[in-house]
Amino acid sequence: MLSPTVALAQILDSVVPLGRRQSVPLTEALGRPLAEPVVTPWDVPAWDNSAMDGYAVRAVDVATAQPDQPVYLRVVSAVAAGQVPQVPVQPGEAARIFTGAMLPPGADTILIQEHTQRLDSRVAILQAAPAGTFIRQQGSFAPAGRVLLTPPATLGAPELAILAASGYAEVSVLARPRVVLLSTGDELVPAGHTPQPGQLVDSNQPALVALVRQAGAEPMPLGIVADTPEALRAVLDTAIQQADLVISTGGVSVGDYDYVRPVLESLGATFLVTAVAVKPGKPLLVARLPRPAGPDLIYVGLPGNPASAWVGFWRFVYPALNKLAGRPMPWTCPQVMAQTTAPLQAGRDREFCFWGRLTWGESCTFTPASGLYNSGNLVSLAGCNSLAMVPAGERVEAGRPVKVLMLPM
Ligand code: AMP
Ligand code: MG
Repeated sequence: MLSPTVALAQILDSVVPLGRRQSVPLTEALGRPLAEPVVTPWDVPAWDNSAMDGYAVRAVDVATAQPDQPVYLRVVSAVAAGQVPQVPVQPGEAARIFTGAMLPPGADTILIQEHTQRLDSRVAILQAAPAGTFIRQQGSFAPAGRVLLTPPATLGAPELAILAASGYAEVSVLARPRVVLLSTGDELVPAGHTPQPGQLVDSNQPALVALVRQAGAEPMPLGIVADTPEALRAVLDTAIQQADLVISTGGVSVGDYDYVRPVLESLGATFLVTAVAVKPGKPLLVARLPRPAGPDLIYVGLPGNPASAWVGFWRFVYPALNKLAGRPMPWTCPQVMAQTTAPLQAGRDREFCFWGRLTWGESCTFTPASGLYNSGNLVSLAGCNSLAMVPAGERVEAGRPVKVLMLPM
């Protein structure tokens, strides 16, 4: 049985980033890792322009202006955003100007409207403004040719704006890992069915579709697989051709029908993890499956109990998918220290993960979920946004800090 840290390191060591690229429209690129450097083809801003509504003037003309001693200038033109100014500003003159408009030739400073008074064809300037005031200088944000975004930056709203401002309508991003999802279990019926005595709705598959999406990967849900080695082998034949990673739930402990491991063995798998010292989620199976072409397929066998499967995903699969997708480190969920509102006790030789709710205020607080704390009890995970992790053999008293994993939302 590996410690969680060693298990994660083993898994990450075996994951090779895919490096496949695809081009997507900016509107589809949110959250994707960038695959190519983004260079601005022009200066930003592309020309000197006004940062305020007011008057474009010559600084020397208004050097003596004061509220009780205004300087009077002739208003010779008006420049709105989008126009190219035609009339230069000569000594003793001003141009009416609006935010974002090009600076007219001759002018070197902007007097904001609030420091002026308009008098028909003239304007009274009530305050001096040194040259350059409220002017956004050409190239002052970034000169043409500068790299503005470097792969594999994650594309958020600012990055998408930068791409658009640099002339991009589409962007090359790293392709999403394709993740085949399987639910093993003869007792399972698909969502939408009323279970008969002895049966259970397959709740893991919809949860894993969501979890895989949250990790920025593409789920390929293949449904329920019967508890026979033949059924699993048949579906793995498909998976080996189509997937970058396979996640199954169930069939990985020591029961008579837990044949995932022997099937993987028969396919020549190299096992990276067969058990991990964490509760819930001890029977975790991670293996590399050789393929006729291309890199090995990573197979993750999560336990069938919902909470065990999700904890296994958050702790071990989420980081693996981030690495596979080519994302920058850290690949794990973000961690914070929070004060627990209730005592948390780990087992003697296993780390315990407690699901609950993290809140932010004056301080960061973790409140464990209420209800029966059982890895089969999916009900108790509603509204949870975090996992507190207590190392083997330790106890954290109420009010004391505990390490908490923030779950993707
Ligand atoms: P197993 O890991 O196959 O021994 O399953 C452990 C427990 O998880 C059993 O109570 C199963 O019925 C339950 N379980 C297995 N697969 C699923 C699933 N896809 N959805 C919900 N519960 C499941
Ligand atoms: Mg089972």
